[in-house]
Amino acid sequence: MDKEQILEKFNTLRQWGSRGERAPHKPLLVLYAIGKLLRGEDRLISYKDDIEENIKNLLREFGPRRNSYYPHFPFWRLQNDGIWEVTDSEKVGLTDSKDAYVTDLRNYNVAGGFHETISKQLQNDSELTVDIIHSLLDAHFPASFHEDILQAVDIELPLQAFETRTRPSNFRINILRAYEYRCAICGFDVKLGDSPVALEASHIKWQKAGGPDEAVNGLALCSLHHKLFDRGAFTLSKQRHILVSDDAHGTTGFQEWLMDFHMKRIKLPQRRSYYPEEEFIGWHVREVFRGDYREL
Ligand SMILES: [Zn+2]
Repeated sequence: MDKEQILEKFNTLRQWGSRGERAPHKPLLVLYAIGKLLRGEDRLISYKDDIEENIKNLLREFGPRRNSYYPHFPFWRLQNDGIWEVTDSEKVGLTDSKDAYVTDLRNYNVAGGFHETISKQLQNDSELTVDIIHSLLDAHFPASFHEDILQAVDIELPLQAFETRTRPSNFRINILRAYEYRCAICGFDVKLGDSPVALEASHIKWQKAGGPDEAVNGLALCSLHHKLFDRGAFTLSKQRHILVSDDAHGTTGFQEWLMDFHMKRIKLPQRRSYYPEEEFIGWHVREVFRGDYREL
């Protein structure tokens, strides 16, 4: 396979649901396996001793909140994408939906990894590998996740790899104007000269999930609240009150920067027609928010 073909295979791992349900299973497993390859570890990774626990943790940290996490889905299904192989696959029993029985994966100590040729190409062509890493991150996660995910899978990228990737858009300026250049949560509005600093336009329903670049799907947030919002530490109610997750905790900063806003209304934009829409808030609650609401 040449470079383009390999890149294409990784690019087609997209699997957003029709209503924007998140499915970060395959991208997280692929990033995890790339991290191991780059560290020179074995190409084939044991399901029982390694992937099961580690991918579960990644899903818990970076995926939508679910009652259970199923690392065996991507482990098995990646075989259909032409990049991944599984040892002893003939011994593994299949369910009606053609997924592996987890007990078989454990009992036969099944391992999985990229095909040998692909592994070699990834190890020898760092440009290709960096491209794949970026395209997976870009396709599945907002920018505020990227560094945290890379840290979790132990991948170090050269800094300049990130810098060229921000696209200018009217969205940012429209949102900042709608919210009168201040954070919708804390009101932060520091400027350097005439320019706001550390003030960002965030999508409520991520662009990757089909969220539009419109005021009703945006919030002006300071860098801190942007990150906390994207990672699900708080969400909004239909009436646009701030709801903090019971998964979020801390000592210094937690009370002042998060809990003090719990149940308070956001600083609304200057026009009613800009108010965040229920549809997008609902998506954030389902797909991003972590844990349950705290009590007052
Ligand atoms: Zn803020």
